[in-house]
Amino acid sequence: MIIPEIVAPAGTPAALVAAIDAGADTVYCGFRDATNARNYPGLNFTPDDLVEGLAYAHARGRKVNIAINTYASAGNTALWHKAIDTAADLGADAVIMADIGLIDYAARRHPKLRRHLSVQGGASTISSIQFYYEAFGIARMILPRMFTVAEIAELKSRAPIEIECFIFGSMSPMTEGRCAMSAYATGRSPNLSGVCSPAECVRYDVEDDELLCRLGDFVMNSFGPDEQAGYPTVCKGRYIVGDAEPSYAFEEPECLNAAEYIGAMRAAGICAFKIEGRQRGRFYVSEVVSAFRELIDAEARGEPAARHAGALQRLRRLAEGGEETRGAFKKGWQ
Ligand code: SF4
Repeated sequence: MIIPEIVAPAGTPAALVAAIDAGADTVYCGFRDATNARNYPGLNFTPDDLVEGLAYAHARGRKVNIAINTYASAGNTALWHKAIDTAADLGADAVIMADIGLIDYAARRHPKLRRHLSVQGGASTISSIQFYYEAFGIARMILPRMFTVAEIAELKSRAPIEIECFIFGSMSPMTEGRCAMSAYATGRSPNLSGVCSPAECVRYDVEDDELLCRLGDFVMNSFGPDEQAGYPTVCKGRYIVGDAEPSYAFEEPECLNAAEYIGAMRAAGICAFKIEGRQRGRFYVSEVVSAFRELIDAEARGEPAARHAGALQRLRRLAEGGEETRGAFKKGWQ
């Protein structure tokens, strides 16, 4: 059985170096523009940054995948095509895409450039995997976070391509990458511009001892003096539904932590474990990657995870809001 790669997030050149030094096999990152689903100020890479990042990774036998994973706007595909051309010219190890037209462009223009299907593509059946493989030579798909390990194993047993699964980090509740809620509240689509909850639409106001977090014209959440306020996203807002007390109607602010499924997913043939968090700093990236490096290597040697309590504890500490979930790995629905 192969040992799955650790695919780590790099929102900055410093995070890329931290991920590689902590033991990541691969990092994923994006350009500083709307082609990247984490298009936030202060994050991401210029082509020059990527030249250095690729050199750093390749000198150590590691890989860099570039996420070009938003959807091109109608009549404006030039930016997305240029991003693919630049990734190919720089020698990226793979490009991660969702837009079917862009995947077609990459396959025709750069047939030797490895193509991965982003989670944003939302492929979740064997027939859709087969289609992307046969039509565009997709080498790997990143699976939406909606399956149990048994379901993942069933998909992998019939899939002609590699499968990468999320193992740790923040969750989005919508069919992966198809969120219209943030666009409704802010007027900017995460899927087209790469920005969910842009900073210029966020406002914090204190009213009657409560801290109100607003996104556009909408109150997403309110926090009492003893509560820690979070950044407002629509999916993790607390809402009043009917006569009930305010609650997390869509998604609790929790962090996926599937460390206990490392062995089962390796047995299922998963080739890569993906860590979410390109918006996170290098300390976070380094801590999460080194914990998973320890746990994955220990599992491959046949050691029980309980012997690595320190690594498990570190992951628990780094969970968003201090709360972790097994997500769909342990779901009670179909
Ligand atoms: S509102 Fe939530 S589900 Fe939608 S794009 Fe933002 S984080 Fe993702």
